[in-house]
Amino acid sequence: MREPASDTGLTIAVSKGRILEQTLPLLADAGIELVADPQSSRKLVLDTSVSDVKLVLIRAADVPTYVEYGAADLGVAGKDVLLEHGGDGLYEPLDLEIARCRLMVAGCPDQPEPRGRLRVASKFVNIAHRHFAAQGRQAEIIKLYGSMELAPLVGLCHYIVDLVDTGNTLTANGLAPLDPIADISARLVVNKAAMKMKHRRVKMLLSALSDAVERRRSAE
Ligand code: AMP
Repeated sequence: MREPASDTGLTIAVSKGRILEQTLPLLADAGIELVADPQSSRKLVLDTSVSDVKLVLIRAADVPTYVEYGAADLGVAGKDVLLEHGGDGLYEPLDLEIARCRLMVAGCPDQPEPRGRLRVASKFVNIAHRHFAAQGRQAEIIKLYGSMELAPLVGLCHYIVDLVDTGNTLTANGLAPLDPIADISARLVVNKAAMKMKHRRVKMLLSALSDAVERRRSAE
């Protein structure tokens, strides 16, 4: 178990973009507001209205690593990122029910099952590998960093594994969802040592966020 970032205070790791945008209203409802607008600042450590609570802004895929190593006490990470990261190095006590989408296998509709070894392109190589292995299908997984939808169109792969929300990006590129892998939403993750050593503070935040999620659900 790795040590938390400091003896006092809480550091929360969040990624910029969709997750930050949707996490801020929940944090505000839990009584934690940013002091400055993150859009107009290049700061990566942001103060909040609670003097010993700070937000650190990092890449989405790095959130589990920061939290696991105790560089942040808590974090907000998509389930996709957590599944890809793997391991049991952190607690995942709360589904924040934001940034929802699905992780899917997608490809050209109506294509016959490819003969021989499948080629699958994805940012999520571990998830893709596990998914096809569980189906007993041999697949070569090709790591890509973006514009996944292009890969089947130019013959790089037979299928992609990607996040799908409305499905518009797939449709616009002549692709279709074929096989669901997981329902995705953002989760609150907690460093294991911080959960013990800062138990009272972490529990208070957890309970305030859990109430905020509940209120949001009842308002929907
Ligand atoms: P859509 O066209 O609405 O199906 O959105 C698909 C695109 O948005 C893909 O490029 C996804 O990688 C991205 N996307 C959709 N939902 C999420 C999410 N919750 N988190 C991160 N990326 C997402």
